[in-house]
Amino acid sequence: MLRPPIEVLPGLWQLTLPLPFELDHVNTYLLRRGEGWTLIDTGLRTADSYNELVAQLQTIGLPISAITEILLTHTHPDHVGQTRRLLDETGARLVMSREERDQLVGLAHSEDRPQLLTGTMTAAGVPAGLIPRILRGFAQIRLNFDAIEPDAFLEDGAVLDTALGPFQLIETPGHSPGHMCLYSRDRQLMISGDHILQFITPNIGWLPEKDALGDFHRSLQRVFPLEIETILPGHGQIFRGHQPWIAETRAHHDERCEQIRMSVSESPRTAHQLVGDLWARPLAPFHHRFALFEVLAHLEYMQRRNVVTCEILDDGLQLWRSLDS
Ligand SMILES: [Zn+2]
Repeated sequence: MLRPPIEVLPGLWQLTLPLPFELDHVNTYLLRRGEGWTLIDTGLRTADSYNELVAQLQTIGLPISAITEILLTHTHPDHVGQTRRLLDETGARLVMSREERDQLVGLAHSEDRPQLLTGTMTAAGVPAGLIPRILRGFAQIRLNFDAIEPDAFLEDGAVLDTALGPFQLIETPGHSPGHMCLYSRDRQLMISGDHILQFITPNIGWLPEKDALGDFHRSLQRVFPLEIETILPGHGQIFRGHQPWIAETRAHHDERCEQIRMSVSESPRTAHQLVGDLWARPLAPFHHRFALFEVLAHLEYMQRRNVVTCEILDDGLQLWRSLDS
């Protein structure tokens, strides 16, 4: 067992499931509601992850059929991969936000997704030889997405009745466009998904027509004043101190924006070149994609705030420059 289940409070368990990545685990939560249990996030679709979940439920003394509801904080593969199988095996109801439903269905259906990604990466200056290697990693990940329709949508501000009292849903876009946190004011406790993660900065990736980094900043600002003693994150340990964490995370992104501004002030750069400027070590294709989309999210944020501008060359290449140079 990766880590035995942790009983946070009577009626609330943390179950840690394995991931075959550098980040080697994801946390899911079991929250008692009425006669049943809500499973918050489901882990990656692997045999190891499934076996681990069943073993941990056994340790707690629950059959898999005790899960009567599945709630997704957001629809990234490490949080949704086992949803289809668990729904089939338990007959549970499924809930997620509308934005996340749209993203999930888009990811599961869209056959032109690789072309979209190729187009974005080509325009960002990624060498043609690297693109198929990045896409290969993505094809594997796509197996985690099913076009599953939820039974109900999670709405910002709505309240879930649980055995621990009311939990308020707080929509926190940024890491994912319809990301949801669950907040108990009575218990001063937040199930934070990937919005707040100790020791890890949540990946903020570019999405078409979104200001992901601007949304993330707004979502951090929203959570900042809440009274929270305990953060229950999607990765890493349970921790306290969300306010210093938010301050550091905001400073980290400001610093990254400043590094990008300085690079493009020296000479116009592609997003791909900026990845080389910002990450000293060479990145594996899988990580290169995350780094690139993170840089693109910062560029989008800075463009919307008139710090940088983007010139599109005849061949479609996007060249970024500083607006004050
Ligand atoms: Zn995530």
